[in-house]
Amino acid sequence: MMMTSKTIDLLRNELPVEQESLFLSGDVKTGLVLVDVVNGFCTVGSGNLAPSQPDGQISEMVDESVRLARVFCEKKWPVFAFLDTHYPDVPEPPYPPHCISGTDESNLVPELQWLENETNVTLRRKDCIDGFLGSVEKDGSNVFVNWVKSNQIKNVLVLGICTDACVLDFVCSTLSARNRGFLAPLEDVIVYSRGCATYDFPVHVAKNIKDALPHPQDLMHHIGLFIAKGRGAKVVSGVSFGALKEP
Ligand SMILES: [Zn+2]
Repeated sequence: MMMTSKTIDLLRNELPVEQESLFLSGDVKTGLVLVDVVNGFCTVGSGNLAPSQPDGQISEMVDESVRLARVFCEKKWPVFAFLDTHYPDVPEPPYPPHCISGTDESNLVPELQWLENETNVTLRRKDCIDGFLGSVEKDGSNVFVNWVKSNQIKNVLVLGICTDACVLDFVCSTLSARNRGFLAPLEDVIVYSRGCATYDFPVHVAKNIKDALPHPQDLMHHIGLFIAKGRGAKVVSGVSFGALKEP
């Protein structure tokens, strides 16, 4: 534990991620993107990539996803939710089988199930890490691009799991697409740090398993945010709303 806390301090000093707070007044059209807040990544014991015990970072991410989703739905602002979903006969190396279609692992966590009935919410099942790529249809159209354009979204606010995998890849691809002019009128991609989480696979566990790559949670979460920021995303540590009563 000592080692880990020293390392994270070192990392925060050497790779600082300055974060501001985001205030959403409704003046700038903002879309909420929830990445893979499904049982298979968030619910204890729900498959190979789910936490094996209660996890504070993941719980906070789910709580913040629910809080923001509630406000966005109350205001009828656009919400886009990715659900990692795989066919049983199509593996996704290097990951073990997870979020198989038709199982509860590929469904939204119980706290977010209600999103399925909201008219301002677009759900997208995807079978790859990068949700931008996973939004491409057989005819070449892109469900996410269409969502940005049809709602005339200027900012996307991104939450979900994993900070350094599905969230990061989606953010990087979206920034590239924006820079290439595919996403007008999109301006900013904003990552909410407390609304993101990643999994924990400590080095002392990984070193006893052949070919296993360690994945210390706090360090990888921080690195994910750092890389997202380096690619041009904004990172915020708080999100608040104008003239709204707390639920
Ligand atoms: Zn997957």
